[in-house]
Amino acid sequence: MASWFRRNKPDAPGERRSISIEELAAAFPTAPARATDTEVSVEELAAAFPDAPSQAAPAPAPALEPAAPAPFVVEAATPTFEAIPDAIPEPATETQAAGIGAATQGKPGWRERLRGSGFARSFGGLFSRNPKLDDDLLDRIEDALLSADVGVSASTELVESLRKRMNAREFADADALRNALRADLVAMLVPVAQPLQIDASARPFVILTVGVNGVGKTTTIGKLARRYKDEGRSLMLAAGDTFRAAAVAQLQAWGERNGVAVVAQGQNADAASVAFDALQAAKSRGMDVLIADTAGRLHTQQGLMAELGKIGRVLQKIDPAAPHEVLMVIDGTTGQNAISQVRQFNAVAKVTGLVVTKLDGTAKGGVVFALAREFGIPIRYAGIGEQPEDLRVFDADAFVDALLPNDLGRA
Ligand code: GDP
Ligand code: GDP
Ligand code: MG
Repeated sequence: MASWFRRNKPDAPGERRSISIEELAAAFPTAPARATDTEVSVEELAAAFPDAPSQAAPAPAPALEPAAPAPFVVEAATPTFEAIPDAIPEPATETQAAGIGAATQGKPGWRERLRGSGFARSFGGLFSRNPKLDDDLLDRIEDALLSADVGVSASTELVESLRKRMNAREFADADALRNALRADLVAMLVPVAQPLQIDASARPFVILTVGVNGVGKTTTIGKLARRYKDEGRSLMLAAGDTFRAAAVAQLQAWGERNGVAVVAQGQNADAASVAFDALQAAKSRGMDVLIADTAGRLHTQQGLMAELGKIGRVLQKIDPAAPHEVLMVIDGTTGQNAISQVRQFNAVAKVTGLVVTKLDGTAKGGVVFALAREFGIPIRYAGIGEQPEDLRVFDADAFVDALLPNDLGRA
């Protein structure tokens, strides 16, 4: 059978937008040189994820027996499955030492973790300083929403709705208006607060994580590994960030801590090949879940974006419905730039779920509303710390309550 990923091969290179190794190198001034095959058009990329997103049954493609894949040659070292305990340095520097003191605080709730959010700060004391129901109060609310990264359209919409109701004398006092704002904020998030459902008939259920550098992809995978393990699911991880050796070790360390096998090849291995091997291994071992890590990339790095398409195509060779979830990780401290990140990744690898990380600390938090309004893509999880238990199923009520606690305005 003619394989799809063959289409990757440029028959007429002149017709394609391509990017040279030099250009890539320029985009990564400090990164090691890396072989790439990058000549893929945007159209091909989109085609590589035909209906990956829908949880609904995908168009049935001729099933390939995974046990007998088309012959191929992977020159890289054979994959190493289990992490080798002694070879992995303790990941303390990355996962334990960042000083939020989470380990000693047990499992603090959303409120406690999001207390420092820009959102909470913007609204702190706002209602007590402006107890009168007037346009001045509304202007201040709008300013607070905007400075918390809620975005212009969502902020305007929220405030105009409040204005109408205020003018209709719906609110007895500023407290009542604040409660209405809270309810409106929750209502914006309810449609996207859709937890990730692991479809048990997809074995394994393949989760491909994507996003720019440093947003928390690998950490999120580690946390998910812990969560799924605790839920009694069997799972494997694929070290698809082959760009940095440290990235593979980081994932292996998480795997080791949670007793989860990590499929890896050497640094600079082809990420699609790692994904393929991992899916084959996970399938033959009857795993419930496979989570694949990927290198961080920017939408301007066309070669790396193309690699995402390739990963999708190679996975589909084994399971036409894979990846079952394209989980995009967003750094909650990013602000409005998150919108363009999601737009670009979604164009290439139809994003089916979001994780917003780093909502503890200095994140403003408002970008979550902007994302909800702009895309309607389910927000699966929120990262509220660096420890394994600090990945929460996204909860609209808990989130809004943390950003705008009842008692906040009276402070
Ligand atoms: P990647 O490049 O996307 O894989 O990002 P990493 O998983 O390596 O994470 C980058 C940094 O963000 C690490 O120091 C993580 O510990 C940190 N991090 C990830 N998620 C969170 C979170 O929810 N809260 C906090 N405070 N830090 C996080
Ligand atoms: P090429 O690398 O330009 O020849 O492009 P292909 O489209 O043939 O394959 C792209 C890459 O995906 C290959 O280099 C492999 O690393 C990977 N790949 C494709 N098919 C398979 C497969 O069946 N098994 C494995 N392990 N990797 C594959
Ligand atoms: Mg990473």
